[in-house]
Amino acid sequence: MVDRVVAYYEAKEERVAALVSPLEVERILKARTGEGLCVSGAAMSEDAVMQSLEAVLETSVRTQHPLFLNQLYGESSAVSVGGEAALAVLNTNAHTYEVAPALTLVERAVVERVGRLVGWERVDGLTTSGGSMSNLYALHLARHAADPEVAKRGASGRSAPSCAFVSEDAHYSFLKASRVMGLGDDNLVAVSTDRASGAVDVDSLEAAIEKSRAEGRVPFFVGTTAGTTVRGGFDDLGAVSEVCARHGLWHHCDAAWGGPALLSESLRAAMRGVEACDSVALNFHKLLNVALPCALFVTRHPRSFGVNATHAPYLFQDEKPFADLDPGDKSIQCGRKADALKIWLAWRAEGDRGLARTVDACVDLARRAADKVRTHPRLDLVFEPTFANVCFRPSPRQIAALDDPDARARAARRLPPLVKREMHARGCALIGVTTHRYAGDAPFFRLVVAHGNSLEFSDLERTLDLIADISEEPALLAEALSQ
Ligand SMILES: *Cc1c(COP(=O)(O)O)cnc(C)c1O
Repeated sequence: MVDRVVAYYEAKEERVAALVSPLEVERILKARTGEGLCVSGAAMSEDAVMQSLEAVLETSVRTQHPLFLNQLYGESSAVSVGGEAALAVLNTNAHTYEVAPALTLVERAVVERVGRLVGWERVDGLTTSGGSMSNLYALHLARHAADPEVAKRGASGRSAPSCAFVSEDAHYSFLKASRVMGLGDDNLVAVSTDRASGAVDVDSLEAAIEKSRAEGRVPFFVGTTAGTTVRGGFDDLGAVSEVCARHGLWHHCDAAWGGPALLSESLRAAMRGVEACDSVALNFHKLLNVALPCALFVTRHPRSFGVNATHAPYLFQDEKPFADLDPGDKSIQCGRKADALKIWLAWRAEGDRGLARTVDACVDLARRAADKVRTHPRLDLVFEPTFANVCFRPSPRQIAALDDPDARARAARRLPPLVKREMHARGCALIGVTTHRYAGDAPFFRLVVAHGNSLEFSDLERTLDLIADISEEPALLAEALSQ
């Protein structure tokens, strides 16, 4: 199985994705193994197990392909895949030093490196399953810092509701986290962003904080974003920190996507002021090409992790050697994968400069793609790029020429998902489609460059031309134009 998986990793395939229905997955499995997806309970032969793996590989998406431009991750570096394999073989838990001595220290070393990059002397942190989990940690620790009794008393035992602030472009995980926390959607306030840059409007933020105080709520948290998920916008971290200092609020920066800018000389300015934040989330499994999952939550308030400590006597005993290095009582999990190994190995292999090259290459490719869109007769740029995200939509002559504005708007709304489906079916590229309140009613393509080491600009050019061409294909246009 390992040989087969390594061969898959090394293969250079033409197609990005198979657009397969659940029925086809079932059919391919049946053809290869005699059984469909159902776990019947009967033991299968070794060969049938191999064929089961083969069917899964055959019907999966090649996120490794340079034209997988759908989300904010893509290729995984060989060294990180090696690290992932080592973690599988070591099969241990990052909860006590006793069962993960070197891996505990490796995590510590990565946390300290990121702390230095951010500009902190004191730092603590954990690898998490991703940005969503890091944002939950931020809210959880911040509320504990503001209201230490909450751990014992519970969230509902206070008459005035706590409230938190993010921008309208913040990641949806804040909404999920506020539900888990018992804050509720009503107590996560979304502040408007600047139309041109996508950054949170700092005056509106301060006004929203004052308004919620006047309403009898208790603000405790502001979550900014460095690299928003759709546009790649950067909030002004320094200006928001000043607001947070005036109002005594925890400032968390969600840098899951844009955080690697810290490594780049030319992009670091976008993160100016990050050292004044109280905590930061950073994903290594996005722009830095580390195998999923590999993400970090760091804070300059180590004691705030105390909210998670329960001192379970069957795991944590003070008299065990090096018990002070146990990370387990900082986590909301018990067992936790030692994901830091992957970025630690990648950092050793590539150094700061190698990682920075990847970041710069992605942003440079995105800028050139945006330039190409700007001058393309049949594509429209939706936002000026501020990072590695390129937002654009096809504008075929046949739709622009329609006299009826309603018909034109309807066709513009239908077209991007149809083009995406066609590209997916052909397997030539996978690119996400989304909407944004500053981009009208029609969806648009959000192309994300996270393949700094394998994507050529000529691939991008070809793909953009192909989108324009597919948008003008008669059958597809007829579907977009139909009543
Ligand atoms: C991707 C992303 C997240 C979520 O990260 P996961 O690792 O998928 O949980 C959070 N915030 C931002 C800004 C992101 O781009």
